[in-house]
Amino acid sequence: MTIQSFIPPRRILMGPGPSDISPQVLQALSRPTVGHLDPLFISMMDELKQLLKYAFQTKNEFTIAVSAPGSAGMEACFVNLVEPGDKVIVCRNGVFGERMRENVVRIGGEAIIVDDEWGAPVSTDKVEQALKDNPDCKILAFVHAETSTGALSDAKALGELAKQYRVLTIVDTVTSLGGVELRVDDWQLDAVYSGSQKCLSCVPGLSPVTFSAKAIEKIQSRQSPIQSWFLDQSLVLGYWSGEGKRSYHHTAPVNSLYALHESLVMLQNEGIENAWRRHQDMHEKLKVGLEKLGFKFVVEESSRLPQLNAVYFPEGVDEAKVRAHLLNTYNLEVGAGLGSLAGKAWRIGLMGYGARPENVSLCLKALEETLTN
Ligand SMILES: *Cc1c(COP(=O)(O)O)cnc(C)c1O
Repeated sequence: MTIQSFIPPRRILMGPGPSDISPQVLQALSRPTVGHLDPLFISMMDELKQLLKYAFQTKNEFTIAVSAPGSAGMEACFVNLVEPGDKVIVCRNGVFGERMRENVVRIGGEAIIVDDEWGAPVSTDKVEQALKDNPDCKILAFVHAETSTGALSDAKALGELAKQYRVLTIVDTVTSLGGVELRVDDWQLDAVYSGSQKCLSCVPGLSPVTFSAKAIEKIQSRQSPIQSWFLDQSLVLGYWSGEGKRSYHHTAPVNSLYALHESLVMLQNEGIENAWRRHQDMHEKLKVGLEKLGFKFVVEESSRLPQLNAVYFPEGVDEAKVRAHLLNTYNLEVGAGLGSLAGKAWRIGLMGYGARPENVSLCLKALEETLTN
């Protein structure tokens, strides 16, 4: 049997990512591939750095996209900053905090865990206590927007604490970048990573990262070499910068970078504060409709992510069946619960291009028709 071309249906992606991609970004993806050391491609990479700095609200020179998904951005931050024996405070209030701990331990660092309940933000009081108890701690690591629970933590306050206790920060902004306020410089965050497929609404497989001068200093004063060759950012830097002469490190995913460039141009044209507001507005609309249908939010209003709505479904709902029905009948994908919320809650994403009135209306209409029949 001859295998045919794969033609996916057009789904409406309202899960935890990947999110809906605009036709404009998909078009950029299909432009002709050029060589990755072509001078025109290099100037596109330079623009990309500038656009990423805008998205992160930073002037950090080292601001690039790792050629791999968000998990690789996470690993890049840990493997570059953490040395064997380093004490790292890891905040864990969902799936991704636990992955941070895994990273620290595999590098040979010592993870000091600050636990908070699933659905709660990271407690700044607990973090301050951990900083007091561990004066030899080097790094504080936390997730800004926990996609597994829909909770937003106070990255500004945590950044301030870290500076007060003279530790560096590693911050997961995979779901927050482009969706809620994030100011890397004002909040003095050090090593920050994100992903292309959440609120930037680009194709999956790229991880924007930015390192402060202090983070670079820590990397440069390492006693031991970085264990990962591919993620060694001092090598990657030679590929992403240098006047005219760029050294080959790996082959950049050329077309995916066109797509990221395009999605960041869209963000720039909208204005980042407008994008934050749009996510909030769409969330408010969705919230009213969901509550009418009997859904209850997992997270307290004060720390609720607009772009990731974790909700307990109404009693008696056969959740897997309803999700399958939404997918098959409406081409609508919503996310299942993860970890301790599996089988109890859904995660409805309003990310990037997906955060628009049509999606909110469709989701509410599809839910209403499905649940009342
Ligand atoms: C999606 C996500 C990641 C992982 O990104 P991948 O691109 O799937 O590797 C990490 N952290 C958070 C908070 C995420 O939402």
